[in-house]
Amino acid sequence: MTGSTKYIFVTGGVTSSLGKGIISASLAKLLQARGFTVTIQKLDPYINVDPGTLNPYEHGECYVTEDGAETDLDLGHYERFLDVPTSKANNVTTGRIYQNVISKERRGEYLGKTVQVIPHITDEIKAHIQALGRKGIYDFVITEVGGTVGDIESLPYIESIRQLKWAKGKDCLAIHLTLLPYLGTTGELKTKPTQHSVKELLSLGVQPDVLVCRTEHPMQKGMKEKIALFCNVDAEAVIESRDAETIYDVPLLMQQEKLDEVVLKKLGVANYPEADLGAWKDFLRRYKEPKGDVHIGLVGKYVELKDAYKSIKEALEHAGAANELKVHIKWVHSEKLTVKNVAKHLGGLAGVLVAPGFGHRGIEGKIEAIKYARENKVPFLGICLGMQCAVIEFGRNVLAYADANSTEMNADTTHPVIAMMEEQKSVADKGGTMRLGAYACKLEDGSLARSIYNKRDITERHRHRYEFNNAYLGAYEKAGMMATGINPQGKLVEIVELKDHPWFIGVQFHPEYRSTVAKPHPLFIAFVQAAMKQAVKTVEKAEA
Ligand code: GLN
Repeated sequence: MTGSTKYIFVTGGVTSSLGKGIISASLAKLLQARGFTVTIQKLDPYINVDPGTLNPYEHGECYVTEDGAETDLDLGHYERFLDVPTSKANNVTTGRIYQNVISKERRGEYLGKTVQVIPHITDEIKAHIQALGRKGIYDFVITEVGGTVGDIESLPYIESIRQLKWAKGKDCLAIHLTLLPYLGTTGELKTKPTQHSVKELLSLGVQPDVLVCRTEHPMQKGMKEKIALFCNVDAEAVIESRDAETIYDVPLLMQQEKLDEVVLKKLGVANYPEADLGAWKDFLRRYKEPKGDVHIGLVGKYVELKDAYKSIKEALEHAGAANELKVHIKWVHSEKLTVKNVAKHLGGLAGVLVAPGFGHRGIEGKIEAIKYARENKVPFLGICLGMQCAVIEFGRNVLAYADANSTEMNADTTHPVIAMMEEQKSVADKGGTMRLGAYACKLEDGSLARSIYNKRDITERHRHRYEFNNAYLGAYEKAGMMATGINPQGKLVEIVELKDHPWFIGVQFHPEYRSTVAKPHPLFIAFVQAAMKQAVKTVEKAEA
């Protein structure tokens, strides 16, 4: 697109959790499908410098970018929808903004001025918003503001939007996402909360250009006109957003509602091509019309909160669609698994995935799950802590190292088969100090991983402090657990496999962060395939 980058802001009103991330990603998808270049960023109004130090119970999964930023899980949606990597610049928190401003103040960069929310904090926010646009590669920068309009925390962000809209005029557009509650007693959708939410935005000086209204039921006749009248918005710019069967339907629903056309018109963009959503629709067809079912156990300690494993869940679903199979995830609580009940919980499953994690809680259950998968030849995928637990399990039960452990869990073990990485030993801070982001890995010829990736050199994203202790490598390989992926620089073990097992892979990295709708991840595709074979075998055995 010729001309300057266009900035689209997405705010939320009425309640939180309305799905601003999905609406942002869906609009971005529609613009991308018309041939435009788009990126999405998330502004988070909390004081943590990044979500890396947040417990998943607080904020769901921490998503890691190629360049090693620990970010909000919405960035995962952006990548899965667009198949374009995000970076540090795509997620900024209030903590980071203040940290930058305070560092500048300490360096004397404000030349003796009183440092204030306006203009210094808002200038810093505006600089972050525009940093992506200045790269000159994006036609559109979509900026999603976390939280709900009216929150004290989001005030500086809304003020920054007001200033940018004023300064940039037609190059900026504000979308406000609201909820139309349904009153069962009268059988009606109500618009009043939307009107109030827009009033709140107006009181802060921001006139929304487009309203996206989340609703469980179709909007009644005349409702768009009514909202338009009360909120100074064109009726065609009041968009209905009905609850969808899957998040991957939302781009198509927004296309039916002409969200992208309204946005382009309001931003003065003319003569754009038709959207090509062929590949997206093909994915949806395979996703919605599976030719079979496969049941996979996901063993983790946060299973009551599915957002904690968001990228893994999505990666399994992408892989299911790639294989034209419906993946049913059985969420298995690692703290509840014991030697006595493991067969009951995992019996009949076609594959077992052991999730990443930190700290001691639930790891003995993970180890039991792995023992079960190893001994019963059930396809197994261990991710990060899941891989480390596979190494511990093999140490204890095959190599007879009774107290084998990670030094994260037991600093005094006589068999520290997983130990802290050398470069981590001097680090005291918790935030942003792990081995983070993409690192190279060389795959061993003849290994399962090598055949799955179909190349020798790969890179994958990491987020950990501990690693396989190479002092034990010889003993492990002799007993049948092979290191089949190695980081060429540090000689760190990145992948382990079992010789004597049809499909057993532990990876120190996080393949789930790389799986997108356009490119489901090869490891997940192969895992689901192996699980399907296992399911067929189980049926054959039962029939024999
Ligand atoms: N706690 C482990 C480590 O820091 C594993 C981390 C993870 O699973 N992401 O090495």
